[in-house]
Amino acid sequence: MLLIDIHTHNCVAEHAIYNCSNGYVADKRISIGIHPWHINEKWEREFNTIAEIAKADNVVAIGECGLDKLKSPVSIELQKEIFRAQALLAEKVEKPLMIHCVKAYNELIPIHKAISPKQAWIIHGFRGKPAQAEQLLRAGFYISLGEQFNPDSAKAIPAESLFIESDESNVAITDIYAAVAQARGTTVEELALQTIKNAARCGIIL
Ligand SMILES: [Zn+2]
Repeated sequence: MLLIDIHTHNCVAEHAIYNCSNGYVADKRISIGIHPWHINEKWEREFNTIAEIAKADNVVAIGECGLDKLKSPVSIELQKEIFRAQALLAEKVEKPLMIHCVKAYNELIPIHKAISPKQAWIIHGFRGKPAQAEQLLRAGFYISLGEQFNPDSAKAIPAESLFIESDESNVAITDIYAAVAQARGTTVEELALQTIKNAARCGIIL
């Protein structure tokens, strides 16, 4: 069965988007971007490199990028500037945006509103409660669940807005699908078919 892993740093799965930060890997489907933890004074140069690489066919998403109020070494204002640049790049190259967001949804949602993107914005590694999920869904985001998800949220998110990921986990993607399917009271098969459809809708073919 084809189980899409929408975001991974390990890339053992076949149908996965491998996040290789700002280094280019030619032989995999990758996402590329500047993570809020890894912003330094060279970010503009890094961004220009990413903007060039982003045109390549095997780059299927921009990111992960985003906002992190706990762990980023720079101010939230600078994070917002760099995130916006990447969101606009995603629009330009017509690829979805893979988002890391910690304690900054109140900053993220207005940026989404202001840009009003055509491309999908996917919140990766969502661990929040249903109310938080609902706020994001209302704004038009997709939500990806990994190893540590809130079961009530897993139940509340509509199938057409959902993705599954392994991220940095050592738990196999098959086991994460099984856990989410169980929380939703559905089967892995049904969940797998839905995430394939969702990926296709976002322009991602894996
Ligand atoms: Zn990640």
